[in-house]
Amino acid sequence: MHDAIAAWLKASAKRIHAEAASLTALDQAIGDGDHGINLDRGFTSIVAMLDERAARNGDQTDEAAAADLLRQAGRTLISTVGGASGPLYGTAFLRGAAALAGDLPVRSAALVVALEAASVGIAALGKASEGEKTMLDALFPAARAARESLENGGDTAAIATAAHHAAEAGAAATIPMLATKGRASYLGERSVGHQDPGATSAALLLGELAAVLGEGS
Ligand code: ADP
Ligand code: MG
Repeated sequence: MHDAIAAWLKASAKRIHAEAASLTALDQAIGDGDHGINLDRGFTSIVAMLDERAARNGDQTDEAAAADLLRQAGRTLISTVGGASGPLYGTAFLRGAAALAGDLPVRSAALVVALEAASVGIAALGKASEGEKTMLDALFPAARAARESLENGGDTAAIATAAHHAAEAGAAATIPMLATKGRASYLGERSVGHQDPGATSAALLLGELAAVLGEGS
């Protein structure tokens, strides 16, 4: 699990860097145009943290180390990202880490519980729920799809793939929504017709998770 998380964080950093301009463009339409910059800064710091940790700890691969890694990544996001998304994603990582540190012996179950905990953590911090045109509109459907896949016997690859596809659909579904949380809510009706940047980045992150865990295509 430790290696998968490290690989996911590194792949995410690359993907976020590649998509930074398009995420920022989405945020220019309904926010302040910094979402890509914010996440790029945060994930660049996560990669620096990973490199520094590898040099210090060598190859630590047990489950406690996996949770610890995700926790440190969450703290890094909270401390390096100025925008709302830093504390929100950071808290999601911390909640996910706590779920991984729990007593779930099966990796697939741990993955689902971590996704659910991450979504609930963001909702609590952001005082938001589904349908308000935020990252939660990608993450809650993703967590539900992940749970359904687990219940149908899916392994981690199938679960992450289901979560990724649901998150993409969820992000697309934010286009007609009226924003009622975050900066986009200041625009009122003018927020309608644009895809939410945070829902878009959430789908990107889950896409990288699915790729790392072995998504077919
Ligand atoms: P900021 O809005 O501070 O500039 P970012 O641009 O990095 O921060 O992130 C904006 C994204 O954060 C939005 O697209 C939305 O998905 C998410 N977001 C903002 N406020 C909330 C909230 N209260 N709850 C959940 N997500 C939120
Ligand atoms: Mg912004």
